[in-house]
Amino acid sequence: MRRKEAARLPECDELTVVRHYTNLSHNNFGVNDGFYPLGSCTMKYNPVINEEIAAMKAFAGLHPLQPAETCQGALEVYFNLQQSLAELAGLSEFTLNPCAGAHGELTGLMIIRAYHEANGQPRTKVLIPDSAHGTNPASAAVCGLEVVEVKSLADGTVDVEHLRQLLDELGNQVAAMMMTNPNTLGIFEPRVLEITEMVHKAGGLMYYDGANLNALLGECRPGDMGFDVMHINLHKTFSTPHGGGGPGSGPVGVRKGLEQFLPMPRVIFDEKAKAFRVEDAPLSVGAFFGNFGVMLKAYAYILSLGRENVKMVGPLATLNANYIKERLRDDYLLPIEGLCKHECVFDGLVDKSTGVTTMDVAKRLLDYGYHAPTIYFPLLFHESLMIEPTENESKETIDAFIDVMHKIAAEAKSDPELVKSAPHNTPIGRVDDVLAAKQPVTTYWKTLS
Ligand SMILES: *Cc1c(COP(=O)(O)O)cnc(C)c1O
Repeated sequence: MRRKEAARLPECDELTVVRHYTNLSHNNFGVNDGFYPLGSCTMKYNPVINEEIAAMKAFAGLHPLQPAETCQGALEVYFNLQQSLAELAGLSEFTLNPCAGAHGELTGLMIIRAYHEANGQPRTKVLIPDSAHGTNPASAAVCGLEVVEVKSLADGTVDVEHLRQLLDELGNQVAAMMMTNPNTLGIFEPRVLEITEMVHKAGGLMYYDGANLNALLGECRPGDMGFDVMHINLHKTFSTPHGGGGPGSGPVGVRKGLEQFLPMPRVIFDEKAKAFRVEDAPLSVGAFFGNFGVMLKAYAYILSLGRENVKMVGPLATLNANYIKERLRDDYLLPIEGLCKHECVFDGLVDKSTGVTTMDVAKRLLDYGYHAPTIYFPLLFHESLMIEPTENESKETIDAFIDVMHKIAAEAKSDPELVKSAPHNTPIGRVDDVLAAKQPVTTYWKTLS
């Protein structure tokens, strides 16, 4: 329906608009501004060459419904990315359709549901560790499946005995178990092979939440651990930008035997015609092409690393996280001993007598020009502070961050009020989180006043 009256848009000149957005951009913090160690998010550097390639007119000007013979180059990139991800994950086939990790989870669970239905044995329960990311149970619920929580041990890994009990009780109702490995504490699940075997024995499938794939890249593959279906967050592991709800990509891979359930369209290479074409299939759960610009950036990243350097990603990310963990443990409480993978978790300051919380430390970091780590997640500890440096950061950057973390710990002792009232140097001071979430002010007029 056409509107009857003109929209009441603010009327102003171009200069005012430019200043408005430029000023807003100064209030922002991005990975190009400084160290951004947000745990579970893999905020790695977004190389400029990725942006240049995604912006090329030959790609950016394409229409999604263009005939295949007019865009063979783009289809070749699409096809090659499908193949590269399958090789890196140790799985058979990938779909690039889903537009985020959570979207990938939903797609993967729909594939799993379709698989059980095709076997004539619909199953409704999904086992999810209590340490899982909130999107896991949310996706299962949206897919119409029932969430059953698996307990964690004190060290944050899956309680295999509890899992055994659940499988004994629920056996043939279990559609799948969702897991991320390393888990959301950055700990590699030592009994992962046993877990995948147990679930398979009960007839369930294993879903791998690939948000933490960065830790394993080049080291080992989810497919080899026995996972059947997984998603990859291209906007985490493969360096494409994210944050602020920007375009993401959550390709889903499956092991051999599940390809027919993948959403279509998919790009295949027709050996006879020696050309790429777009394929549809009857059992497919259905979708569309996804965010092609994001895929171009991820593919450019894979090619610029190459087969040799891609092997360094996981080990370097792991080295950086362990370096931070060992150097901060005198001031920050380390709840779990031993090696972590790509991220480390502290339970607030060692010295709790000052009353300075993880929230205060996070806010004070902003004063020093660092983005805060992830806080109060995972939920297993009261004062969680989860730091993920990624492989991109130099030792100088990491050392400077460590120095500031020590400085804040010292301030917490000498002047706790200074930390509790932080930030002091940012455009906006300490906000009321609840009010900001419940009554966000997003209009042009209010931000001016
Ligand atoms: C980020 C993340 C997700 C969700 O991915 P989105 O792309 O944000 O939808 C799921 N699981 C874990 C562990 C994550 O870190």
